[in-house]
Amino acid sequence: MTLEIGSLINGKEIAGGGRVKHEVRNPYHNELVGIVHFGTVEDLNQAIETAHGVFHQTMKNMPAYQRSTILRQAADLLEARGEEFAQLLTLEAGKPIRDSRFEVGRAVQVLRFASELAKADDGEVVKMDAAVGGENKLGFIKRYPLGVIAAITPFNFPLNLVLHKLAPAFAAGCTVVLKPAEKTPLSAMKLAKLLEEAGLPKGALNVVNGTGADLGKPLVTHPLVKKVTFTGSDQVGYKIRNMALDKKVTLELGSNAPNIIFSDANLDLAVTGLVKGGFAFAGQSCISVQRIYVQREIYDQLLDRFIPLVKGLQVGDPSSEATDVGPLINEESAVRAEKWIMKAVEQGATVLAGGNRHGALLEPTVLANVKPEMTVVCREVFAPIVAVMPFDTEEEVIQAANDSNYGLQAGVFTADINRAFRLADRLETGGVWINEVSTVRQDNYPYGGVKFSGIGKEGVKAAMEEMTEAKFIGIRLY
Ligand code: NAD
Repeated sequence: MTLEIGSLINGKEIAGGGRVKHEVRNPYHNELVGIVHFGTVEDLNQAIETAHGVFHQTMKNMPAYQRSTILRQAADLLEARGEEFAQLLTLEAGKPIRDSRFEVGRAVQVLRFASELAKADDGEVVKMDAAVGGENKLGFIKRYPLGVIAAITPFNFPLNLVLHKLAPAFAAGCTVVLKPAEKTPLSAMKLAKLLEEAGLPKGALNVVNGTGADLGKPLVTHPLVKKVTFTGSDQVGYKIRNMALDKKVTLELGSNAPNIIFSDANLDLAVTGLVKGGFAFAGQSCISVQRIYVQREIYDQLLDRFIPLVKGLQVGDPSSEATDVGPLINEESAVRAEKWIMKAVEQGATVLAGGNRHGALLEPTVLANVKPEMTVVCREVFAPIVAVMPFDTEEEVIQAANDSNYGLQAGVFTADINRAFRLADRLETGGVWINEVSTVRQDNYPYGGVKFSGIGKEGVKAAMEEMTEAKFIGIRLY
């Protein structure tokens, strides 16, 4: 069955009328799974004006308990329809079905966190008499929702990353205009309808489908948009930042995540984590394990355990329960990744596993004898490719891990608690996991990168802070 969708504006689906029709095809078997009628710039403007009106008329004054109830009801509905959503994610993104179910489970949790945080205290009392002249004064901070949020999302977690923007926005009392990735718009539209069913007022969420080239600039520069929250590549992220100079901007961008295995590490934990973290969803995660640094004493031992597990991963049809690694989002992406492997080999790298491409499928690939300047090391691969490098000292590996334009998350495996804290302090990343790989993300902690990995934080509470403005209110008592 082929789904046909348009854009959702003020609760109505807008399609037809000469709008461009875009096909969504399954990355594995290339079958047509959906047709999207792209919205026009006029549709977009109407969506923004609607969101602005609904913010002022409804959302900003909606009591917290009501916002919380809507989000809780949405969580319950999503949980009940989890399998439908998982199947749709697998169809449109080619994500292995077990990973799709995992994504839906996380999305349910994001809604539950938001439902709880909608009711949590968010103010602060200021100790006014800490300053000379502050006697007999009372001061406190209240947080106010910003208004219309422009949300732009990528293809790799088409449900959960959309919810990382919508759920905090509604918990905080904002309204949203969402432009989902054109490669994966179907689950976003299904989610939008579910949110309305859960009680979200019409027009609090408007979804406009289309390309970034057509809709990006008019969306992020519109005067009624108060904040832009973007997840995607650094190339697009920085373009947006430069266009939206008068707005608050959150950027969640890419990375080439380092993972460091010291000789005293628990190798069972390390090896299992690296296999999952390097190849889940064919490496198409911003925190996917990419650079693996292994202390020289255990380099051969780790590879002896790691390589057979990588070679044993089931590659193929994402709808099969047995599949570990499915296709990349399209053949073009797989060809690009294959070229990077070939270039690395020309420059002296050795392929220890994988390396071959079959259409959009790329075999899980492990490269050794790599150099820091090779593309597969210094750029974001966003494919099932990892590079393994030996190191001798703690100082050397910290320098190597930090030698990157990116800094999203890192993984460190060691039994030495003192060393673990030294690395946590010195690694230049937004998050550090000890005895866990970089690819792990839990949806309730502040998450976001430094350097070219982004600006600002997500994670429901952190995102709510970024979608609200703190206002100081002072009273002089007499
Ligand atoms: P992308 O940057 O190509 O596209 C992301 C979104 O931006 C899409 O909706 C696209 O239509 C839109 N877009 C494209 N050009 C635009 C423009 N000029 N103006 C406004 N919007 C525009 O990214 P992608 O290929 O969909 O996703 C992969 C990237 O996302 C990777 O770099 C990955 O690391 C990153 N990512 C980051 C996180 C994070 O939380 N840090 C999470 C997931 C993915």
